[in-house]
Amino acid sequence: MKQFSILLDELQRDGRLSREAWLYLLQRTGKELRQIAAQKAEALTIEHFGNGVFVRGIVEFSNYCSNDCLYCGIRCSNKKAERYRLDEKEIIECCRAGFEYGFRTFVLQSGEDRFWNTGKLCKLVEKIKKDFPECAVTLSVGELSKSDFRSLFEAGADRYLLRHESADPEHFAMIHPPRQSWSKRMECLADLKDIGFQTGCGFMVGTPGQTLEHLAADMEFISGFQPHMVGIGPFIPHCDTPFADRQTGSAELTLLLLSLCRIMDPQLLLPATTALGTLMPEGRELGVLAGANVVMPNISPMEVRSKYSLYNNKNIADPGCAGVLKSELQKKLSSIGRKIVIGRGDHGGRSC
Ligand code: SAH
Repeated sequence: MKQFSILLDELQRDGRLSREAWLYLLQRTGKELRQIAAQKAEALTIEHFGNGVFVRGIVEFSNYCSNDCLYCGIRCSNKKAERYRLDEKEIIECCRAGFEYGFRTFVLQSGEDRFWNTGKLCKLVEKIKKDFPECAVTLSVGELSKSDFRSLFEAGADRYLLRHESADPEHFAMIHPPRQSWSKRMECLADLKDIGFQTGCGFMVGTPGQTLEHLAADMEFISGFQPHMVGIGPFIPHCDTPFADRQTGSAELTLLLLSLCRIMDPQLLLPATTALGTLMPEGRELGVLAGANVVMPNISPMEVRSKYSLYNNKNIADPGCAGVLKSELQKKLSSIGRKIVIGRGDHGGRSC
């Protein structure tokens, strides 16, 4: 216990740790130590952000995807996936409803859908920024060229989420087809930060072939890259992927990793992910208690939610009706002494 606490203090002080120290911490997922980390992480969150939690409305606007990630239910090889895409009007409608709920950030996420090319995305972003000038737009639409990223930034997009998925090139290659490259992913992340996006990376916990060494490498990568946001969720198998029979990732380890991220960087925007909420009924609240400061309820139209099926049993239960979503979320957060913040919830610190 003493060694564990010493390493947490070192992580807080230096924002980094040696590979050995990471491995030591990651082996300690037992409840007692995990709670020590969670308490320290939550205290730091409250010190930097008060008891508010940022909310983002996520619109999953297309599940067409030209990529073939082995873990993902909307991979192009999954012929059973029922494809859909929303048009501009439908997406704006989601934002309008979301705005009424009190959301001031919209996260637009999709597969790598060639229909929604950069030109169309730019027009969409411009329209959203014109209709909702006080709102931030986060994009999560996969890998693009630097000039495409720049166009989207110039169109007004504020943030970009692109999980690095694995900081270890060999492990990255185990969970992606050969044509998707680790170096391209890393280049995209560097480009996004360079352009000025508030940039998010992240990874799944428990993907096939992942070892604690890989996770230690992920944490080292994050401490070096200094992203503005980090998305971490458990891997959950999808029945129509090559990883259908693989084990689900550990929620406990996910919670520990969230706490370690918070201790490493108190300014971080750190969501309690949908995957965590899917695995545990109280996953979102536990994520917040472990140091997360963002939740991202689904504001996609009810009829398409089950089709954006990245993994089995994905939680699609966020109420679709104005007001109810907000009051339910508020109730859950008040049960743990926290409250929704109405506002963009930008990253406050470091310049890009
Ligand atoms: N096309 C976008 C969005 C991908 S889906 C992009 O490439 O960024 C968003 C995230 O969901 C992925 O980055 C991945 O980490 C996660 N995800 C995909 N399949 C999953 C699974 N089976 N279990 C848990 N998370 C998964």
